[in-house]
Amino acid sequence: MKKLVIIIGAGIGGLATGARLLKMGYDVKIIEKNPCCGGKTGSLKAEGFTFDLTASIMMMPEEYMSLSKELGLNLNFIKLEPNYKVNYFDGTVLNFYTDLTNSLDQIEKINQSDGNSYLKFLSEGYRRYQIAYDYFLNKNYDSIDDVMNNTVMKGAAKSLPLTNSYHYISRFIKDKRIRDYLAFQTMYIGVNPMKSFNMYTLIPVISAIKGLWYLKGGMNSFVFALEEYIRKNGGTICLNTTCEKLFVTEDSIKSVITDKGVLSPDIVVCNSDYSYSNKTYFGNRFSKNKSVKDRKYHYSCSVFMLYIGLKKKYECLSVHNIFIGPDFKKNIGAAFKGRIPSDPSLYIYCPSKIDDTMAPAGKDAINVMVRVPNTKNKNYVWDEELIEKMRNRLIQTLQKVKGLEDINENIEFESYLTPKDLEVRFNSTYGNGFGISHDLTQTAFLRPQIKSRDLDNLYFIGDSVHPGTGVSLVLLGSKLLCEYLK
Ligand SMILES: Cc1cc2nc3c(=O)[nH]c(=O)nc-3n(C[C@H](O)[C@H](O)[C@H](O)COP(=O)(O)OP(=O)(O)OC[C@H]3O[C@@H](n4cnc5c(N)ncnc54)[C@H](O)[C@@H]3O)c2cc1C
Repeated sequence: MKKLVIIIGAGIGGLATGARLLKMGYDVKIIEKNPCCGGKTGSLKAEGFTFDLTASIMMMPEEYMSLSKELGLNLNFIKLEPNYKVNYFDGTVLNFYTDLTNSLDQIEKINQSDGNSYLKFLSEGYRRYQIAYDYFLNKNYDSIDDVMNNTVMKGAAKSLPLTNSYHYISRFIKDKRIRDYLAFQTMYIGVNPMKSFNMYTLIPVISAIKGLWYLKGGMNSFVFALEEYIRKNGGTICLNTTCEKLFVTEDSIKSVITDKGVLSPDIVVCNSDYSYSNKTYFGNRFSKNKSVKDRKYHYSCSVFMLYIGLKKKYECLSVHNIFIGPDFKKNIGAAFKGRIPSDPSLYIYCPSKIDDTMAPAGKDAINVMVRVPNTKNKNYVWDEELIEKMRNRLIQTLQKVKGLEDINENIEFESYLTPKDLEVRFNSTYGNGFGISHDLTQTAFLRPQIKSRDLDNLYFIGDSVHPGTGVSLVLLGSKLLCEYLK
């Protein structure tokens, strides 16, 4: 008889794991508290516009492509060029490409010596990425022996010079505009580029080398494809079903208690937020266990997102756009110091630039995102007044982008995502956007691991556990999880 795996949460982690386990011959049942799949990687559809709820940038495209191939999904990956269009507050506009000749043309126009330095930055970064991938990311850690393994320690020594991301970039690049562009990307996992250890400079390196890809229909088409695969292949997804408790005896979970009934699994995979799950499902089961109950984690920052449906198309936008505001270091650091930035730098996503399924004909759908403190910080209450203030600040900032001056008059639809929404809708602890923070003390073998050390039949998948945050790392995590169950 097939073993029954109950997966709590139909986020990208739960869906990818469910699809992989089905293919391996398990009986899979996913329970999801919300009325739709995808969790943070879901979508918002309104008035003919489709918005990716959060994730839009496809880091490590091979993780998406290999899973798609493995499951035979019918997805259309489109290579983007340029990768980013960057607008600066002083009116400078730069495009960055995967095509190195084009990027070098741009860079050398503004600083001759930075062309060569940019190549060195990429080459050194790629070397470090390969070490990081083999020794830290694509690897399960089950015991202290895995950590003390000589190869891992050598890998760490080779790849972790202890300077922060911004400082590390500055060792290569002279021009502040290029530095700011590269540093902006290191922030994608929700850590401060001025404080984070420089491993995250690998993010702009991978994007430049592997390119950025777009999935026709947006990131949420990956969610739909996984959901469809699961349903077609005999898996079950129970929407509007909340896990309330896990009934544990001795060293394993015997029952999953939901608001719709009790399930008896052989294996449990927990995709809901790691800290929320430990606090909510187990009661005092772990009171003697320091690794779960007593460890105090730091959480990544949160985000404020504005979704805008526009009455017309804006030629000045690329698919991925960055606006770098004045006093970049101060404003980027604000969210991590408990403040909302006054002159924010923004990420602007416009999938309708190349995908006419995302907006009605002749119109654009854009996401505008800024980092803000998570809700552990009590300085802000996400009420209507603050939302209105944030909305106006973002629109005023958008109007500084060349070509978007009249954006306020052309808004047909708008909506928002706040830290409070992340907390309430997805049970994200303190409304974190990117899971447990990727501080040096919470990374690789120091991060919560996929296989529970306490219960024999419990596994975790998602942005707070190893190998880390972002859709591609969560997909890689689902592969690592399945290795335990082969
Ligand atoms: C604004 C923003 C922008 C981002 N941009 C990018 C990007 O460009 N590229 C990228 O790769 N990543 C990006 N990320 C990160 C990415 O969205 C996450 O890493 C990823 O979605 C995490 O997926 P997950 O499966 O771990 O968690 P989740 O999506 O949180 O899934 C957990 C699921 O569990 C469900 N659940 C919770 N509690 C229960 C319960 N008690 N019972 C049943 N179900 C429950 C939730 O409803 C949810 O569906 C972004 C994140 C944010 C917030």
